[in-house]
Amino acid sequence: MGRASFCEKMAEIDYDIDLDAVEDVVRSRGARRIVLQLPEGMLQYSLVIAKCLEERLDGVEVFIHADQTFGACDLHFGELDITLKPDIIVHVGHSPYPPELAHKNLEPQGSRILYVGAYSKLGVNRKQVLEAARLLREEYDVSRIGITTTAQHVHKVGEIEEILKAGGFKVAVHSGRSPYFRHAQVIGCDYSLARAVKADGYIFFGGGVFHPLGLYLATLKPVVKVDPYSGSVEDLTSSGEKIYRSRLFAVSKAIGARRWGIIVGIKTGQYRPWLVRKLVNAIAEAGGEYALIASEVTTLQQLVALDNQWYDAFTITSCPRLPTDDFWSYEKPVLTPGEALMAIEGRLEPYRFPW
Ligand code: SF4
Repeated sequence: MGRASFCEKMAEIDYDIDLDAVEDVVRSRGARRIVLQLPEGMLQYSLVIAKCLEERLDGVEVFIHADQTFGACDLHFGELDITLKPDIIVHVGHSPYPPELAHKNLEPQGSRILYVGAYSKLGVNRKQVLEAARLLREEYDVSRIGITTTAQHVHKVGEIEEILKAGGFKVAVHSGRSPYFRHAQVIGCDYSLARAVKADGYIFFGGGVFHPLGLYLATLKPVVKVDPYSGSVEDLTSSGEKIYRSRLFAVSKAIGARRWGIIVGIKTGQYRPWLVRKLVNAIAEAGGEYALIASEVTTLQQLVALDNQWYDAFTITSCPRLPTDDFWSYEKPVLTPGEALMAIEGRLEPYRFPW
């Protein structure tokens, strides 16, 4: 394979990634060692990107980080900082994680972390967008549609908005919050900007169900997904409703719990001391007890091993999607922080997700 061939192969990748920006930053800082992080679904492109960077930046060493990076919350900064000691972590595909959701140390670390957008080359299907909008109007009487998406598709939002407006629909799109959220962007643990717009239902443009189901839990409003990967339109409202009902059941089981396990996340952007304090204070005020449990990735096996029958319920402060996605089979309630606060206060409404 010729020396320039990896950079030529960048054109074949399904995403536009701004390596010019990476090159500029690496050169201006005189960086010699880079760690390259990508979402799991993009690891298949890691070799081409790493080798292209090495072609562009003579003498620079690139380590491909193969561990999962679930989001911008998941930089593995601590381990990297005492082992590889990279000059720059190039984190592709996510925008920076808001420090106010985690801890203030995220800000200074930012100077050694370069967030690089990865923009999907998939197009917008006009018919599918209009089908989703009609579904929202006819099934749920939605008069104003909120548009939401993930970082990979934010560049398509303007086009979706135009299609909807030309089709006679009223649209609401949040304008983002630089540098953490582009317009219409949501992350799995923060839907506050989408929730703040005046919409009666949402179109989610993107793949998977992780974000649209989270959007349902955060808003309790109809959500229809337009998936550019599968080329499908899917109404996720009833699936969201089922999960919501199950979450209420879990909260009801935890009402009256006296002894809580508070799981404290220790991934770079999942440590939330403000939230731990809030839970500790609420439990203490209610006359309960708690144990603090530090954990990077909390699994069902971990809980089984930890649980010596002292605990009545657990709450996970790291990634709020763990309780809603992974702990259904556990006999004791495992709640998001918002749900735990509901249980501690002894109420089932209003539902709060995630905290
Ligand atoms: S949902 Fe979980 S993995 Fe995603 S950004 Fe939030 S804390 Fe990180």
